[in-house]
Amino acid sequence: MPRVIVVGAGISGVTASIELRRRGYDVMVVDPGPLPHPLAASTDISKAVRAAYGADEFYTELAERSIPLWRKWNIEFAIELYHQVSVMFVRQREMKPGDFEYESFKILERRGHKIERMNSTRLWKRFPAWNAKPYHDGVLELEAGYAESARVVALLIARAKSLGVELREGARFSELDESDDRVGGIVLDNGQRIPADLVVMTIGAWTPYILPFTRKFFRATGQPVFHLKPRQPELFAPERFPVFGADISTTGYYGFPLNRDSRSSRRRKKKIYASFCRGHFPHSPTRRLSIRGFVCTATRTTDIFGLHPIQNV
Ligand SMILES: Cc1cc2nc3c(=O)[nH]c(=O)nc-3n(C[C@H](O)[C@H](O)[C@H](O)COP(=O)(O)OP(=O)(O)OC[C@H]3O[C@@H](n4cnc5c(N)ncnc54)[C@H](O)[C@@H]3O)c2cc1C
Repeated sequence: MPRVIVVGAGISGVTASIELRRRGYDVMVVDPGPLPHPLAASTDISKAVRAAYGADEFYTELAERSIPLWRKWNIEFAIELYHQVSVMFVRQREMKPGDFEYESFKILERRGHKIERMNSTRLWKRFPAWNAKPYHDGVLELEAGYAESARVVALLIARAKSLGVELREGARFSELDESDDRVGGIVLDNGQRIPADLVVMTIGAWTPYILPFTRKFFRATGQPVFHLKPRQPELFAPERFPVFGADISTTGYYGFPLNRDSRSSRRRKKKIYASFCRGHFPHSPTRRLSIRGFVCTATRTTDIFGLHPIQNV
Protein backbone atom coordinates (compact mmCIF):
# COMPACT_ATOMS: atom_id res chain seq x y z
CA MET A 1 0.00 0.00 0.00
CA PRO A 2 1.59 3.36 -0.98
CA ARG A 3 2.31 5.56 2.02
CA VAL A 4 1.20 9.21 2.12
CA ILE A 5 2.22 11.74 4.75
CA VAL A 6 -0.20 14.61 5.22
CA VAL A 7 1.47 17.55 6.93
CA GLY A 8 -1.01 19.69 8.92
CA ALA A 9 -4.29 18.63 10.52
CA GLY A 10 -6.56 21.58 9.78
CA ILE A 11 -9.68 20.99 7.69
CA SER A 12 -7.65 20.48 4.49
CA GLY A 13 -5.30 17.90 6.03
CA VAL A 14 -7.89 15.94 7.93
CA THR A 15 -10.32 15.68 5.01
CA ALA A 16 -7.46 14.77 2.64
CA SER A 17 -6.33 12.04 5.04
CA ILE A 18 -9.82 10.52 5.21
CA GLU A 19 -10.24 10.55 1.45
CA LEU A 20 -6.76 9.09 0.85
CA ARG A 21 -7.44 6.34 3.37
CA ARG A 22 -10.70 5.53 1.59
CA ARG A 23 -8.75 5.24 -1.67
CA GLY A 24 -6.51 2.61 -0.11
CA TYR A 25 -3.42 4.58 0.97
CA ASP A 26 -1.50 4.05 4.15
CA VAL A 27 -1.85 7.55 5.66
CA MET A 28 0.06 9.37 8.39
CA VAL A 29 -0.83 12.91 9.53
CA VAL A 30 1.73 15.05 11.37
CA ASP A 31 0.91 18.21 13.32
CA PRO A 32 2.59 19.86 16.34
CA GLY A 33 -0.86 20.00 18.03
CA PRO A 34 -2.70 20.21 20.32
CA LEU A 35 -5.50 19.34 17.95
CA PRO A 36 -7.56 21.06 16.73
CA HIS A 37 -4.62 23.47 16.75
CA PRO A 38 -5.68 26.74 18.43
CA LEU A 39 -3.82 28.81 15.82
CA ALA A 40 -5.16 26.98 12.76
CA ALA A 41 -7.53 28.98 10.53
CA SER A 42 -9.94 26.05 10.74
CA THR A 43 -10.21 26.37 14.53
CA ASP A 44 -12.98 28.91 14.88
CA ILE A 45 -16.52 28.71 16.20
CA SER A 46 -18.11 29.41 12.83
CA LYS A 47 -17.34 29.54 9.10
CA ALA A 48 -19.72 30.71 6.40
CA VAL A 49 -20.85 28.09 3.89
CA ARG A 50 -22.36 29.71 0.80
CA ALA A 51 -22.56 29.55 -2.97
CA ALA A 52 -22.45 33.34 -3.45
CA TYR A 53 -18.95 34.14 -4.69
CA GLY A 54 -19.53 37.14 -6.97
CA ALA A 55 -18.52 36.37 -10.55
CA ASP A 56 -16.35 33.46 -9.42
CA GLU A 57 -18.57 30.65 -10.63
CA PHE A 58 -15.90 28.03 -9.93
CA TYR A 59 -16.47 28.52 -6.18
CA THR A 60 -20.24 28.43 -6.68
CA GLU A 61 -19.86 25.02 -8.34
CA LEU A 62 -17.74 23.78 -5.43
CA ALA A 63 -20.35 25.01 -2.94
CA GLU A 64 -23.08 23.19 -4.86
CA ARG A 65 -21.12 19.99 -4.30
CA SER A 66 -20.25 20.67 -0.67
CA ILE A 67 -23.57 21.91 0.78
CA PRO A 68 -25.36 18.54 0.28
CA LEU A 69 -22.32 16.87 1.92
CA TRP A 70 -22.66 19.16 4.95
CA ARG A 71 -26.29 18.06 5.29
CA LYS A 72 -25.19 14.44 5.00
CA TRP A 73 -22.59 14.93 7.78
CA ASN A 74 -25.30 16.40 10.05
CA ILE A 75 -27.16 13.12 9.70
CA GLU A 76 -24.09 10.86 9.90
CA PHE A 77 -22.64 12.53 13.01
CA ALA A 78 -26.12 13.05 14.50
CA ILE A 79 -25.06 16.60 15.43
CA GLU A 80 -26.02 19.81 13.70
CA LEU A 81 -22.58 20.96 12.59
CA TYR A 82 -23.90 22.80 9.55
CA HIS A 83 -26.62 25.34 10.29
CA GLN A 84 -28.65 26.33 7.26
CA VAL A 85 -29.65 29.77 8.52
CA SER A 86 -29.22 31.57 5.13
CA VAL A 87 -26.51 34.03 4.13
CA MET A 88 -27.05 37.57 2.91
CA PHE A 89 -24.73 40.01 1.20
CA VAL A 90 -26.19 43.50 1.36
CA ARG A 91 -25.04 46.91 0.25
CA GLN A 92 -25.95 50.53 0.79
CA ARG A 93 -26.10 51.36 -2.92
CA GLU A 94 -28.23 49.62 -5.52
CA MET A 95 -26.45 46.57 -6.96
CA LYS A 96 -24.87 47.06 -10.38
CA PRO A 97 -23.07 44.76 -12.82
CA GLY A 98 -19.55 44.16 -11.54
CA ASP A 99 -20.55 44.40 -7.84
CA PHE A 100 -19.92 41.29 -5.75
CA GLU A 101 -23.59 41.20 -4.69
CA TYR A 102 -24.98 41.72 -8.20
CA GLU A 103 -22.78 39.06 -9.78
CA SER A 104 -23.63 36.64 -6.95
CA PHE A 105 -27.34 37.32 -7.47
CA LYS A 106 -27.18 36.77 -11.23
CA ILE A 107 -25.15 33.55 -11.03
CA LEU A 108 -27.28 32.07 -8.25
CA GLU A 109 -30.46 33.01 -10.12
CA ARG A 110 -29.21 31.42 -13.36
CA ARG A 111 -28.16 28.24 -11.55
CA GLY A 112 -31.55 27.86 -9.87
CA HIS A 113 -30.62 28.64 -6.27
CA LYS A 114 -33.26 29.73 -3.76
CA ILE A 115 -32.58 33.43 -3.37
CA GLU A 116 -34.30 36.72 -2.61
CA ARG A 117 -33.30 40.24 -3.57
CA MET A 118 -32.98 42.33 -0.41
CA ASN A 119 -34.54 45.49 -1.78
CA SER A 120 -37.85 45.72 0.04
CA THR A 121 -38.72 46.72 3.61
CA ARG A 122 -40.96 43.62 3.79
CA LEU A 123 -37.91 41.36 3.55
CA TRP A 124 -35.94 43.31 6.16
CA LYS A 125 -38.76 42.80 8.70
CA ARG A 126 -37.58 39.19 9.00
CA PHE A 127 -34.38 40.41 10.64
CA PRO A 128 -35.43 42.73 13.49
CA ALA A 129 -31.92 43.25 14.92
CA TRP A 130 -30.90 45.11 11.81
CA ASN A 131 -31.12 48.79 11.17
CA ALA A 132 -32.24 48.29 7.59
CA LYS A 133 -32.29 52.00 6.72
CA PRO A 134 -28.83 52.23 5.20
CA TYR A 135 -29.23 49.05 3.16
CA HIS A 136 -31.05 49.19 -0.14
CA ASP A 137 -30.10 46.10 -2.00
CA GLY A 138 -28.45 42.70 -1.82
CA VAL A 139 -28.90 38.98 -2.15
CA LEU A 140 -30.22 36.51 0.42
CA GLU A 141 -29.16 32.92 -0.23
CA LEU A 142 -31.64 30.69 1.57
CA GLU A 143 -29.87 27.33 1.37
CA ALA A 144 -26.59 28.56 2.85
CA GLY A 145 -25.41 29.00 6.42
CA TYR A 146 -22.47 28.28 8.65
CA ALA A 147 -20.51 25.33 10.02
CA GLU A 148 -19.10 24.94 13.54
CA SER A 149 -15.62 24.60 12.18
CA ALA A 150 -13.49 23.60 15.20
CA ARG A 151 -16.06 20.97 16.19
CA VAL A 152 -16.04 19.67 12.63
CA VAL A 153 -12.24 19.30 12.67
CA ALA A 154 -12.33 17.53 16.07
CA LEU A 155 -14.96 15.06 14.86
CA LEU A 156 -13.16 14.42 11.59
CA ILE A 157 -9.88 13.75 13.42
CA ALA A 158 -11.69 11.08 15.44
CA ARG A 159 -13.16 9.67 12.23
CA ALA A 160 -9.75 9.62 10.52
CA LYS A 161 -8.29 7.67 13.46
CA SER A 162 -11.16 5.20 13.39
CA LEU A 163 -10.49 4.59 9.69
CA GLY A 164 -6.88 3.71 10.44
CA VAL A 165 -5.11 7.02 9.73
CA GLU A 166 -1.97 7.25 11.89
CA LEU A 167 -1.94 10.57 13.72
CA ARG A 168 1.43 11.92 14.89
CA GLU A 169 0.30 14.77 17.18
CA GLY A 170 3.32 16.56 18.62
CA ALA A 171 5.42 16.09 15.46
CA ARG A 172 6.62 19.23 13.68
CA PHE A 173 7.56 19.13 10.00
CA SER A 174 10.89 20.80 9.26
CA GLU A 175 11.63 20.10 5.60
CA LEU A 176 10.98 17.82 2.67
CA ASP A 177 13.40 14.90 2.40
CA GLU A 178 14.57 15.30 -1.19
CA SER A 179 17.15 13.54 -3.28
CA ASP A 180 17.61 13.07 -7.05
CA ASP A 181 14.87 15.63 -7.63
CA ARG A 182 12.35 13.47 -5.82
CA VAL A 183 10.54 13.89 -2.52
CA GLY A 184 11.12 10.71 -0.54
CA GLY A 185 9.48 11.77 2.71
CA ILE A 186 9.79 14.41 5.41
CA VAL A 187 12.23 15.48 8.10
CA LEU A 188 10.86 16.49 11.51
CA ASP A 189 12.37 19.29 13.59
CA ASN A 190 14.02 16.68 15.86
CA GLY A 191 15.88 15.34 12.80
CA GLN A 192 13.77 12.19 12.40
CA ARG A 193 13.27 11.18 8.74
CA ILE A 194 9.97 9.56 7.79
CA PRO A 195 9.89 7.97 4.33
CA ALA A 196 6.79 8.22 2.12
CA ASP A 197 5.72 7.69 -1.48
CA LEU A 198 3.79 10.94 -1.46
CA VAL A 199 3.72 14.03 0.75
CA VAL A 200 0.69 16.34 0.93
CA MET A 201 1.36 19.76 2.46
CA THR A 202 -1.71 21.35 4.12
CA ILE A 203 -0.14 23.83 6.53
CA GLY A 204 -2.36 26.82 5.79
CA ALA A 205 -0.83 30.22 6.60
CA TRP A 206 2.45 28.59 7.62
CA THR A 207 3.12 27.64 3.99
CA PRO A 208 5.32 30.60 2.89
CA TYR A 209 7.44 30.28 6.05
CA ILE A 210 7.93 26.51 5.99
CA LEU A 211 8.20 26.07 2.22
CA PRO A 212 10.23 29.17 1.26
CA PHE A 213 9.88 28.52 -2.50
CA THR A 214 6.15 29.32 -2.15
CA ARG A 215 6.90 32.88 -0.99
CA LYS A 216 6.82 33.93 -4.64
CA PHE A 217 3.08 33.34 -4.77
CA PHE A 218 1.78 33.03 -1.17
CA ARG A 219 1.71 35.54 1.62
CA ALA A 220 0.02 35.33 5.02
CA THR A 221 -2.60 37.91 5.81
CA GLY A 222 -4.72 38.45 8.93
CA GLN A 223 -8.21 39.29 10.15
CA PRO A 224 -9.43 40.02 13.68
CA VAL A 225 -12.56 38.23 14.94
CA PHE A 226 -14.78 39.66 17.68
CA HIS A 227 -17.02 37.54 19.86
CA LEU A 228 -19.93 39.58 21.15
CA LYS A 229 -22.66 39.11 23.71
CA PRO A 230 -25.84 41.01 22.79
CA ARG A 231 -28.15 42.28 25.52
CA GLN A 232 -31.20 40.92 23.65
CA PRO A 233 -29.98 37.54 22.45
CA GLU A 234 -33.36 36.62 20.96
CA LEU A 235 -32.83 39.21 18.20
CA PHE A 236 -29.65 37.43 17.12
CA ALA A 237 -31.04 33.90 17.16
CA PRO A 238 -30.38 31.95 13.94
CA GLU A 239 -34.11 32.01 13.01
CA ARG A 240 -34.03 35.78 12.61
CA PHE A 241 -30.41 36.68 12.04
CA PRO A 242 -28.61 35.30 8.98
CA VAL A 243 -24.90 35.08 8.30
CA PHE A 244 -24.22 38.45 6.66
CA GLY A 245 -21.72 40.47 4.67
CA ALA A 246 -22.33 44.24 4.87
CA ASP A 247 -20.80 46.08 1.89
CA ILE A 248 -18.18 43.39 2.21
CA SER A 249 -16.09 44.40 -0.81
CA THR A 250 -15.34 47.79 0.74
CA THR A 251 -15.73 47.28 4.52
CA GLY A 252 -14.76 43.63 4.96
CA TYR A 253 -17.51 43.24 7.60
CA TYR A 254 -19.25 39.93 7.96
CA GLY A 255 -20.81 38.12 10.88
CA PHE A 256 -22.84 35.29 12.31
CA PRO A 257 -25.90 34.66 14.46
CA LEU A 258 -25.58 33.49 18.07
CA ASN A 259 -23.88 30.16 18.50
CA ARG A 260 -24.74 27.60 21.13
CA ASP A 261 -22.72 29.50 23.79
CA SER A 262 -24.79 32.62 23.00
CA ARG A 263 -21.87 34.31 21.29
CA SER A 264 -22.05 36.03 17.96
CA SER A 265 -18.96 36.86 15.94
CA ARG A 266 -18.14 39.72 13.60
CA ARG A 267 -14.98 40.16 11.62
CA ARG A 268 -13.24 43.40 10.87
CA LYS A 269 -10.95 46.06 12.21
CA LYS A 270 -10.81 46.53 15.97
CA LYS A 271 -11.15 50.31 16.12
CA ILE A 272 -14.33 50.49 14.13
CA TYR A 273 -16.22 47.46 15.38
CA ALA A 274 -18.04 49.46 18.06
CA SER A 275 -19.42 52.02 15.64
CA PHE A 276 -20.45 49.24 13.27
CA CYS A 277 -22.52 47.53 15.99
CA ARG A 278 -24.07 50.82 17.15
CA GLY A 279 -25.14 51.71 13.62
CA HIS A 280 -26.40 48.31 12.59
CA PHE A 281 -27.98 46.75 15.66
CA PRO A 282 -29.46 49.74 17.51
CA HIS A 283 -32.04 47.78 19.55
CA SER A 284 -29.52 45.57 21.28
CA PRO A 285 -26.12 46.91 22.24
CA THR A 286 -23.44 44.28 22.36
CA ARG A 287 -20.60 43.59 24.75
CA ARG A 288 -17.26 42.42 23.40
CA LEU A 289 -16.16 39.11 24.89
CA SER A 290 -12.93 38.50 23.06
CA ILE A 291 -10.86 39.34 20.04
CA ARG A 292 -8.93 36.78 18.13
CA GLY A 293 -6.37 37.48 15.42
CA PHE A 294 -6.38 35.07 12.52
CA VAL A 295 -3.99 34.51 9.70
CA CYS A 296 -4.68 32.91 6.37
CA THR A 297 -2.86 32.62 3.08
CA ALA A 298 -3.55 34.73 0.02
CA THR A 299 -1.97 34.41 -3.37
CA ARG A 300 0.13 37.20 -4.82
CA THR A 301 -0.62 36.12 -8.34
CA THR A 302 -3.04 33.89 -10.20
CA ASP A 303 -0.21 31.54 -11.22
CA ILE A 304 -1.14 28.62 -9.01
CA PHE A 305 -4.87 28.63 -9.29
CA GLY A 306 -5.15 29.85 -12.85
CA LEU A 307 -8.14 32.14 -12.96
CA HIS A 308 -9.08 31.38 -9.38
CA PRO A 309 -6.81 33.14 -6.89
CA ILE A 310 -7.73 32.77 -3.22
CA GLN A 311 -9.83 35.78 -2.34
CA ASN A 312 -10.50 37.45 0.93
CA VAL A 313 -14.09 38.31 0.17
C1 LIG B 1 -10.54 34.95 9.82
C2 LIG B 1 -10.87 33.90 8.81
C3 LIG B 1 -12.19 33.73 8.46
C4 LIG B 1 -12.53 32.74 7.55
N1 LIG B 1 -13.84 32.57 7.25
C5 LIG B 1 -14.19 31.58 6.43
C6 LIG B 1 -15.56 31.32 6.21
O1 LIG B 1 -16.43 31.98 6.76
N2 LIG B 1 -15.87 30.29 5.38
C7 LIG B 1 -14.91 29.52 4.78
O2 LIG B 1 -15.24 28.59 4.02
N3 LIG B 1 -13.60 29.76 4.97
C8 LIG B 1 -13.24 30.76 5.79
N4 LIG B 1 -11.92 30.99 6.02
C9 LIG B 1 -10.94 30.16 5.33
C10 LIG B 1 -10.76 28.82 6.05
O3 LIG B 1 -10.76 28.99 7.45
C11 LIG B 1 -9.44 28.22 5.61
O4 LIG B 1 -9.40 28.13 4.20
C12 LIG B 1 -9.23 26.83 6.17
O5 LIG B 1 -9.51 26.75 7.55
C13 LIG B 1 -7.77 26.44 5.92
O6 LIG B 1 -7.59 25.16 6.44
P1 LIG B 1 -6.15 24.49 6.34
O7 LIG B 1 -6.32 23.10 6.83
O8 LIG B 1 -5.61 24.69 4.97
O9 LIG B 1 -5.22 25.35 7.31
P2 LIG B 1 -5.24 25.47 8.91
O10 LIG B 1 -6.59 25.24 9.46
O11 LIG B 1 -4.55 26.74 9.26
O12 LIG B 1 -4.35 24.23 9.37
C14 LIG B 1 -2.98 24.19 9.18
C15 LIG B 1 -2.41 23.15 10.11
O13 LIG B 1 -1.00 23.04 9.81
C16 LIG B 1 -0.35 22.76 11.03
N5 LIG B 1 1.07 23.08 10.95
C17 LIG B 1 1.67 24.27 10.96
N6 LIG B 1 3.00 24.14 10.94
C18 LIG B 1 3.24 22.82 10.91
C19 LIG B 1 4.44 22.04 10.89
N7 LIG B 1 5.66 22.61 10.87
N8 LIG B 1 4.34 20.70 10.89
C20 LIG B 1 3.13 20.08 10.88
N9 LIG B 1 1.97 20.77 10.90
C21 LIG B 1 2.04 22.12 10.91
C22 LIG B 1 -1.07 23.65 12.04
O14 LIG B 1 -0.85 23.21 13.39
C23 LIG B 1 -2.52 23.50 11.59
O15 LIG B 1 -3.18 22.46 12.32
C24 LIG B 1 -11.53 31.96 6.93
C25 LIG B 1 -10.19 32.14 7.27
C26 LIG B 1 -9.87 33.10 8.21
C27 LIG B 1 -8.44 33.28 8.60
